Amino acid sequence: MPTINRFADFHDEITAWRRDMHEHPELLYEVHRTAGLVEEKLKEFGVDEVATGIGRTGVVGVIKGRNSDSGRVIGLRADMDALPIHEMTNREYASKTDGVMHACGHDGHTAMLLGAAKYLAETRNFDGTAVIIFQPAEEGGAGGKAMVDDGLIENFKID
Ligand SMILES: [Zn+2]
Repeated sequence: MPTINRFADFHDEITAWRRDMHEHPELLYEVHRTAGLVEEKLKEFGVDEVATGIGRTGVVGVIKGRNSDSGRVIGLRADMDALPIHEMTNREYASKTDGVMHACGHDGHTAMLLGAAKYLAETRNFDGTAVIIFQPAEEGGAGGKAMVDDGLIENFKID
């Protein structure tokens, strides 16, 4: 599969987001800084709607495609929380919080989904609507269920 050039252009930016989140890991529902960063980026990308506080600290962005007549809605999801593990990697972007680390890759998941949101918001070259979902508390806190219980699927009409 060829890499879409425009998406490849985002590489350095996506890496910078991931490293920033890696330096500032947060546990379970306490993902306030991360959720704030996600909210700020989604607004910067010009998505049609940003909703916060879903499932306590979850964030949702809505991006309408150029042809949204079909009424189809797809949900794309990433998780934002880190693990209670002390990082000992000595990387320049290592965790600045003792005993907390993005050891499960959620920093990568969130950075990748932000990249997808940026691309979709810029191009709008799809049918229907994309709902971009950032959930807290994937590591044992049932954050996905908290978002669903908060009406995520019904309120955004996700297929
Ligand atoms: Zn995980």
